[in-house]
Amino acid sequence: MTEDALLHTAASAPATGPPLHSVPAFPGTGMLLSLLRDGRPRTRSELAGITGLARSTVTQRVDSLLASGLIGPAGEAASTGGRPPTTFAFVPSARVVLAADLGATYARLALTDLAGELLTDTRADVDIAQGPRTVLDWVAENGRALLERAGRTTDDLLGVGIGLPGPVEHSTGRAVNPPIMPGWNGFDVPGYLQERFAGPVLVDNDVNIMALGEHFARWREASHLMFVKVATGIGCGIISEGRVYRGAKGAAGDMGHIQVPHDDEAPCRCGNSGCLEAVASGSAIAEALVGQGFEVRGALDVVDLARSGSVPALRALRQAGRDIGEVLAASVNMLNPSLIVIGGSLALAGDHLLAGVREVIYQRSLPLATEDLRIVSSQVGERAGIIGAAVMVIEHGLSPQRVEALVSGD
Ligand SMILES: [Zn+2]
Repeated sequence: MTEDALLHTAASAPATGPPLHSVPAFPGTGMLLSLLRDGRPRTRSELAGITGLARSTVTQRVDSLLASGLIGPAGEAASTGGRPPTTFAFVPSARVVLAADLGATYARLALTDLAGELLTDTRADVDIAQGPRTVLDWVAENGRALLERAGRTTDDLLGVGIGLPGPVEHSTGRAVNPPIMPGWNGFDVPGYLQERFAGPVLVDNDVNIMALGEHFARWREASHLMFVKVATGIGCGIISEGRVYRGAKGAAGDMGHIQVPHDDEAPCRCGNSGCLEAVASGSAIAEALVGQGFEVRGALDVVDLARSGSVPALRALRQAGRDIGEVLAASVNMLNPSLIVIGGSLALAGDHLLAGVREVIYQRSLPLATEDLRIVSSQVGERAGIIGAAVMVIEHGLSPQRVEALVSGD
């Protein structure tokens, strides 16, 4: 089996399936790389000391990682008498990742290194409703252009990460009944792109990749994080033990269609009424403001109006924050996160939304759950999705199991 074929198999294997290598060919290689991914150079003795592996085993594993290019020599450590020992460090430029953040009407595409650093990127107005072939052809064409611009080839790809603006079954990379994406239901996104690029193609919804990007770029110390995107719609990405929590079918975090306790009137596009999205999303607020005589068309107009100091707009945002807080308060009791990040376009409108969220959560959730809970605005902004799409591929491709398969050349 070639390396790429193996990676494809892993990409489509269900997360709960049996491990590909229950007895890895090079046990410990992936663990050594995981250690070195923090960027600190270490000697063979240091690696033996930390991992408990025999010195001879460490030497073999270091050699195989050197051969793969994933680590390289990084100078000499201070000598304790005799020849100073060589240190080794992770080489983030060893491979690259192609990451796409596809929204309803825009697309962002970037090439990153293995540390999630953006090497080059592009964005364009791309309508997701044009269907999967047109949109993914755009990704493929511009992806090749980015590789060329960076002086890399498709052979350098660790994989491709895609974020879609709708529900995604992560294990198969297929969108499932996405409301704003005609033609995408059940479409085999990995299959379509794997004909054009080497490496696995991983797909998730836009909110999960934003949560991952925000966590990776700013809050790596917070192992339990909830990222709430408040824009035209409302969704939540859950990070648990440092990983995206997706649930059984990838539907975890879909908080937009939880009913707000005090409101059972507003009809929702899902067919129910009183959903959070129907009362507190950008479109819901815009609609309410239109009813009060304002000329607003969507979430971004609401942000503009709030920034201009409009009292009705600020009041609406504060109430939307409280409504989101009502739903989040229950989740805080259930999941006990240490950090809630509020992002999406409505979070750009200042502190009123955040203040409303804080007010209700601290009032409604259990004291033990809120004791050390911080509630903050997104720090990464619009790049969160693209970073998260890359991180999804990096964490998969550099997991100890994958690395062991990669260096053993199975
Ligand atoms: Zn609904």
